Amino acid sequence: MPELPEVQTTVLGIKKYAVGKTITDVWTSYTNQSGFHNGKDNIKNADFFAEFKKKIVGKKILDSKRRAKNILINLSEDLTILIHMKMTGHVLFGKYKKEKDAWKTLEKGPLADSFNQFIRVVFSLSDKKHLALSDMRRFAKVTLIETKNLPSSLHLKHLGLEPLEKNFTVENFKSTLLKRPHYKIKKALLDQTLVVGIGNIYSDEALWRADIHPERLVKDLSKKEWEKLFKETIAVLKKGIDFGGDSMSDYRNILGEKGKFQEEHNAYRRTNLPCKKKGCRGKIVRKIIATRSSHFCNTHQK
Ligand SMILES: [Zn+2]
Repeated sequence: MPELPEVQTTVLGIKKYAVGKTITDVWTSYTNQSGFHNGKDNIKNADFFAEFKKKIVGKKILDSKRRAKNILINLSEDLTILIHMKMTGHVLFGKYKKEKDAWKTLEKGPLADSFNQFIRVVFSLSDKKHLALSDMRRFAKVTLIETKNLPSSLHLKHLGLEPLEKNFTVENFKSTLLKRPHYKIKKALLDQTLVVGIGNIYSDEALWRADIHPERLVKDLSKKEWEKLFKETIAVLKKGIDFGGDSMSDYRNILGEKGKFQEEHNAYRRTNLPCKKKGCRGKIVRKIIATRSSHFCNTHQK
């Protein structure tokens, strides 16, 4: 699943390529066969999609922001499109053409890669280009919220601290995670109601860098360990953004290209490989912790 650095990379792409343009049409192939989305504010519900279309066509894209792992696309007239990419979703930008009932890119290069061909949503833009959502497993969420209601929206109001905001401090990081004193630290880092944007990749990497074993209980971390984890969490998320996100799985940037953070992993999916920490003779092991697979060094992470 895309985490903070991947979502931020997409938001930066939308800012660069789509801001200032007007939405002239929108199409989706999402359906609601199971009835799960009946009555919900999700474009998989056909009634909602009809309203969504009526409201966004003709609106100008003013800005794009990120809240946790959600992409926010601010439109004129106080509307914001919210996209959560979930497992396999990613937003693409380029020239597309509708053939029968499917959209294909007219671009050569990365957009034509097989990973980018699961087009479920297409926003046509005033410059004849398109924002498209590729989503192989169809778990992504697309909805519309009045911009002024974003903080109180049910899609966002449960979310915790933003780790790259200026108001994120070691004190509020510690006191927020300590609301769950008996959680293992790995589980606490993944809990989006505490701190947002961190998933399996960046939690494994932050704990490796901070020398902390993922099964340590939140209540048992020392002052020094909180400081280290705070610092390394921020550093690894920033590094993820600097490397254009992580494309070990399905994530691609807005031009369909892979990020490079997967080449920088020290722990995530390095099972049985020697630890890269200077002077450490351990190896990376994999263990299921709080239902999620966790990768960590069997020696220096204590
Ligand atoms: Zn090690």
